[in-house]
Amino acid sequence: MKILNPATHAVVAEVAEDGATSIRAKYARARAAQPAWAALPLGKRLDTIRGFRARTIAMRDTLAKTLTLEMGKPIRQSRNELDGLLGRIDFFLAEASSVLRDEKVFADAKTKLEERISHEPLGVVANISAWNYPYFVGANVFVPALIAGNAVLYKPSEYATLTGLHIAAMLHEAGVPADVFVPVVGGGKAGAALLRQPVDGVFFTGSFATGAKVGAAAGRRMAKVQLELGGKDPVYVCEDVDIETAASGLADGAFYNTGQSCCSVERIYVHEKIHDAFVAAFVASVRGFKRGDPLDESTYIGAVTRRPQLDVLRKQVVDARKKGARILAGGDIVNAKGNWFEPTVLVDVDHRMSVMKDESFGPIIGIQKVADDVEAVALMNDTAYGLTAGVYTRDAKRAKKILSQVRSGSVYWNCCDRVSPRLPWSGVGHSGIGVTLSTYGIQTFTRPKAWHLRAT
Ligand code: NDP
Repeated sequence: MKILNPATHAVVAEVAEDGATSIRAKYARARAAQPAWAALPLGKRLDTIRGFRARTIAMRDTLAKTLTLEMGKPIRQSRNELDGLLGRIDFFLAEASSVLRDEKVFADAKTKLEERISHEPLGVVANISAWNYPYFVGANVFVPALIAGNAVLYKPSEYATLTGLHIAAMLHEAGVPADVFVPVVGGGKAGAALLRQPVDGVFFTGSFATGAKVGAAAGRRMAKVQLELGGKDPVYVCEDVDIETAASGLADGAFYNTGQSCCSVERIYVHEKIHDAFVAAFVASVRGFKRGDPLDESTYIGAVTRRPQLDVLRKQVVDARKKGARILAGGDIVNAKGNWFEPTVLVDVDHRMSVMKDESFGPIIGIQKVADDVEAVALMNDTAYGLTAGVYTRDAKRAKKILSQVRSGSVYWNCCDRVSPRLPWSGVGHSGIGVTLSTYGIQTFTRPKAWHLRAT
């Protein structure tokens, strides 16, 4: 399989792809190796994750450069992702022992009855991952899964394969056996072949379209399934905000990682009283973003990772324009080598337009004028997705009222495009099922076992 640099289309590397036979063999090895891994004292498994953490620090520059070369992420943002990874690992290291500890939930001296819960690993789990934040979305799964005693068959996206191989090498050097964390290399076909193995859990991050297929395949086997899917994340800007601050924060939330985040701001509703001033400040922020060589330290907008996405973005612009939208910045594919799209701002948009309904996953945003909070909430909820939603206002009571009416896994007040290891990450509707991060995101890699114990 050829790994192409999305910024130039140059070949970065060639790697051997797994086929059905090698995937079957990898599964069998993981199945055989898992019990010994689970039998290790928790402290030993935690030590390997500490070792992995240390290696990511030692290799930071190489890892950041690899990520930038294979997916087009600006180099500073690649480093930010690696730095952010450390806090996630620290959270899991700190919380694992209390989450995984056996619990005594009942004891009766008279009847000598005791009831306990133990937290058993699921067994062998498949982790099919996305390319946009491969360290974040991967580690949300494989770190707690390994800590809990599972073996992991890890399929990175084909657009983050070299990063996936680095992750595997670092885990192995840190002491995770090669058969306990096993990379599976390839595209969608390799992912589908992995799902044909009798794994005990499937943890998928990706689009709704693929997630629906993955869920159906895993459901037939009665494997535990988690699907972390896309979003069409809305933000409502009330009339009482500091316009400059809100506009620059939201421009960052919409365009960071070239708009390719599951929780990127994808649509903005602005109170009519400040709409025009907000739009002017927002466009000024976007015009200040430097697009260019992702290896350049000053680049903020990188390449679009997947070439087919350029057509999706162009179609959204054409559709919006046909239906009455105005383009205030960008608007098209850049005529250059590589996958490039101009940072694009559309106004006079509405919900007849695909740009306000379908995930864009690129450097493009629609801004719509609203009359009041009721209209804003109705529009925010007019979506099949439900990953994140936010409101900008000085008024805490108003924010709470609005956010409590929004159907969404995460809600934000005066912030956006944010993930915390301490909070559960989940979606409703087409944004998926299941949860990662927080203590729920450790527990989810275990099966609670009920012990009914009566001494004689
Ligand atoms: P895809 O759905 O295209 O791919 C996800 C993974 O599934 C990749 O590893 C892919 O392999 C693999 N795959 C493709 N076809 C199949 C199949 N038939 N069976 C099994 N596996 C398969 O998503 P992207 O990687 O393009 O990621 C972008 C999407 O992910 C966006 O919708 C984004 O919102 C969402 N996302 C959600 C997050 C969340 O936390 N909710 C976080 C990050 C992203 P390959 O890439 O090699 O084709």
